[in-house]
Order: sequence, then structure tokens, then C-alpha cells
Amino acid sequence: MKSIRGLSAVWPAVAPVLAVHGGAGHIVAGQLHATRVAAANHGLHQSLLAGMAVLRDGGSAVDAVVAAVVVLEDDEQFNAGKGAVLTVDGGVEHDAAVADGATRRAGAVACVSGIRNPVRAARVVMDRTPHVLLSGAAVVELARSEGLALAPGRWFVTPRRQEQLARLQRGCRAESEMTGGTVGAVALDVEGHLAAATSTGGSAGQFAGRIGDAPLIGAGTWADDRSCAVSATGDGEAFILSAFAHEVDALVRIAALDLGTACHQALRVVGARTGTGGCIAVGPDGTVTMPFTSAGMFRGWIDAAGDPRVGMFAEDLCQ
Ligand code: ASP
Repeated sequence: MKSIRGLSAVWPAVAPVLAVHGGAGHIVAGQLHATRVAAANHGLHQSLLAGMAVLRDGGSAVDAVVAAVVVLEDDEQFNAGKGAVLTVDGGVEHDAAVADGATRRAGAVACVSGIRNPVRAARVVMDRTPHVLLSGAAVVELARSEGLALAPGRWFVTPRRQEQLARLQRGCRAESEMTGGTVGAVALDVEGHLAAATSTGGSAGQFAGRIGDAPLIGAGTWADDRSCAVSATGDGEAFILSAFAHEVDALVRIAALDLGTACHQALRVVGARTGTGGCIAVGPDGTVTMPFTSAGMFRGWIDAAGDPRVGMFAEDLCQ
């Protein structure tokens, strides 16, 4: 666990902090091409800079997590937006969510195709509708009416994901392959508000119509100023059945555990359902924690004073 304290006095209220992830997965050290690792780390770096630019300007945690996730959705390295994994029939279906710790509201979209940045559509659901979770084709019409960028379904499909699906269907996995690649962000802003966002194409080769944990508030995404903001990644079904993100919240808010211990304990609940993965979480005091039980998790964090710190394996970043 990384605790962040004693930041500069430039911000009279709260020193902002941001963490992002680029997915937990079955990554084996030495078997993922160095160029892929460097490209993913570059994407995380850009995402952290985009989100922190918002926070440094006094922007809200919600604006920051959306800005950070948009960068990762636009980066084909990750399993979100363009370059997301394919369903069993070769399509792309996106899930995304955003949660606002100040209002304890949230918005999410599930099983959508054709919206360039699904996290922006989740924001529209939160800000512009009385609902929390919308799915399917009607979301594209809502996005269009709100002026969001659209793209035809084939625009999201990349050769790399087509090869991945073909390999999966042949029952083999390439040495350089990293499963996962879901993206997320959590932030604390200068007003002391928390937010979280998560975006994914789900799991490679999934049934068409399958919805994972990312857009389910309390499973893959959560924010409450009283406790924490959480974005999860990993075996979605186990995270759903564990009510993972809400479990973290409850362990902090009700059981009074510190955030790092709460995340570890909630990951143990996921593990009891044979699920692996990880999360990023931030507390109202600026504590950031990024634990995982998978082989690796692309992740990084930045505070108001510092440079982005990014890495994939446990030894890459001080936990
Ligand atoms: N949790 C995501 C899902 O189940 C996948 C991932 O994080 O890799 O949709």
C-alpha cells in the first residue's frame, strides 16, 4: 500500500491524486514482448497526465477519471474503446461506468457498440437521465443526441483482437498474449471529492450479450466520499458475485479497516470464488492502493507534485 502525504501547499484544500489501471491478467514475466509493455506503460503515462491536468486546474474528480479513461479507450493497447476484445461471434461490446463520490450517484452503459468513448456515455447516463444503467442500441441514440462521437462497429475491431479470438477458438494462447486490458481510474480532487470510472470490452470470446462487473455499480466500480473510490479488473463473474467494490467500501466505512487491508480482504473473497484480478482505490485522505492477485496488473499513479509512476508486476511499483 502506498500512502501519499505531505504534498506541497499550492492547493489550500486537498492535494489531488489519481491512479489508473490497464487491466489485470495472466501475464507471465518475460513472455510479454517488451515493446507491448513499453506501449502500455506509455498509454498509462499519458492517461495519468491527462487526468492530473484536470485536477491541477481545480477540476472535479469525475472530470479527471473520465479524461484519464478516454485516453486509454483511444489507445488500442487496451481492452476498451477501439481495440477491445471480441465476443465469440467477432463483435465488440463495451461496458463502462462512472461513479461520483460527492453525490453518490453513478452512471453506466452495458453491451453497447458504436460509441467511441463508452465512458462518456456512462457520464451522460449519470448526468442527464434518471437512470443508473442503460444497455443496447438505445444508448447509441442517446449518445448521438448528446453529441458524443460515434463509429461503426467494425472501426473498433483490430487485427490483433481478431488473431486473439482465432487463437482462443483453436484452444491456444500465444506466448506474448496478455488477457485482460480493462481500464479504469480513481481520483481525489482539490475539494476532497472522490470518483471512479471503468471501461472494458469484457473477456475475449465471451458470449454476445454478456455483461461483466465493470458497469455494475458496487461490483467493478464504486465511489463514496465517506470511504473510497474503486475500479476493479479481473474475472468479472467472481467480482460480481463478491459485490467486490461495495465489499471494499463496507470494510472501510463499516468495519473501519484501512483501505489497503480492505482491498486485500475483498480480493480474498473474489479468490474464494476462484477469481483473480485487482483494483485501484483511493481514500478521502489521499491513500492510494493498487493490489492484485493475478500475475500482473498494468497500473500507475500520480500526485500533484510528482511524475507518473507506472508498472505491471509487483516489483515495478512500491505497493
Ligand atoms: N472485469 C472485466 C470483465 O469481466 C474483464 C477484465 O477486467 O479483464 O468484463
